[in-house]
Amino acid sequence: MLIYLIFDVEDLVHSDSDDIPRDIGTMLADDGVVATMCVVGEKARLWEQRGRRDVLAAVAQHDVCLHTDRHSVHPTVSEYLADKDWADGVAEIVRQEGQGARDLARILGQYPSSWGTSGNSWGPQVPAGTRLVGIPSNVYTHVKAGDTGACWFAGQLCYSDYVGLPGGEDAYCDDEAFERGLPALLAEIERARQNGVGCIGLFGGHPTRLRYRVFWDALNYNRGQNTTPTDYQFAPRREDDAYRLGLRNLRRMVAAVRELPEVRILSVRALNQRVPPDHTAISWDELGKLASDASQSAVISTDDSTASPAQLLDLLGRAFLTAAIGSTRPKCLLPRLVLGPVSQPPLLDQSLVVNATQLLSMCEALVRHIDATQHLPVSLEVDGVQIGPGPFLRSLTRAYPHVLEGTLTPTSIEPGPQEPDVAESLAQEGIYKMLPEWTPHTPDLKLEKLALHMRLQCWSLKPALLI
Ligand SMILES: [Zn+2]
Repeated sequence: MLIYLIFDVEDLVHSDSDDIPRDIGTMLADDGVVATMCVVGEKARLWEQRGRRDVLAAVAQHDVCLHTDRHSVHPTVSEYLADKDWADGVAEIVRQEGQGARDLARILGQYPSSWGTSGNSWGPQVPAGTRLVGIPSNVYTHVKAGDTGACWFAGQLCYSDYVGLPGGEDAYCDDEAFERGLPALLAEIERARQNGVGCIGLFGGHPTRLRYRVFWDALNYNRGQNTTPTDYQFAPRREDDAYRLGLRNLRRMVAAVRELPEVRILSVRALNQRVPPDHTAISWDELGKLASDASQSAVISTDDSTASPAQLLDLLGRAFLTAAIGSTRPKCLLPRLVLGPVSQPPLLDQSLVVNATQLLSMCEALVRHIDATQHLPVSLEVDGVQIGPGPFLRSLTRAYPHVLEGTLTPTSIEPGPQEPDVAESLAQEGIYKMLPEWTPHTPDLKLEKLALHMRLQCWSLKPALLI
């Protein structure tokens, strides 16, 4: 099992917290461990302004991930996405987080290997926007598919699962709590390995919390409040002995995890290299198998790593058009990037029958829309009826064997599942439950648009394979 060791370097309030990632970075490098330092863009800019070359040099021995550009400073990520439609939200991610990525590259000499959610401040446009600024993955994402520990969502490679020492940083600084927590952590990692998980994060902690007993943002950025630097509230600080104990126990934890059987610690940058790009060729037979599985399933599933539901619909549309021309077929088809629809598709309330010509013109409209926008259409019109992608996918999966044989007959399009089966639960868990749990979020954070786009983008969700 592959384990990425990751730290959230984020304290914008206590200037002496700068020393802590330096100490951790040096200690782990001495042990030959490459961790992933998830650094806030503003934190790196503060190091630069303060001339902290020692910190920059120690951190740059490790992999660097962008822990958002400004973390808990309002508006946070969920707050600035809350009122946005899809395209505006993606553009805002590109604008705000792109700045953070460029600053990390300039200051630390590495373009970030990943983008890591700050607290629970996430939105479905994050993966798409960070992909556009050239960041190859996301960590701590609110989406999940399959059991590898990695998935594709909105065209981005996403890692969601991670474990950490029970009791967190307070337990590092307390021998008794540490001795209790370490075996529990090791057992949890072992369970994941036995369950066949391909990769998992090991959350090393927030460096600042080895020194400060309370989160910097809980005191200064809680519930939508912004505090100016002259009014900062400072947290209670641990003595040097407790701090040194925390570092020692962190080192012991990493050593203990390294000794586990069949476990390898690597950086997120190295892990990204273990995931093949998302466009493996698919043969006509394989597509037939996917279509047959989908036609027999009562739900729209996101469990197949070959194609997301959106990619399957696109592949079928293109296959229908190619087969209908009747000329020589290519040996295989290439899945491509296809995002979910940008707004809620209409509900189909009664079935209708379309002839072969109508079905093929719907396929043509589908493929043309994806060519132009990289999104599934919200609906396709036939005989004055708007058909959403759910019912259309089902009718194509059923008609696939006939189009291959050149015997396309009138096909029925029926009411049925409108969205992938995980859409509802991911929106409930990843938006309605998790976002309000993060106390810096403003209490009047609107969740409806975030939840809608979360559901719609489940069309682009599928497990990612590791090699
Ligand atoms: Zn954080």
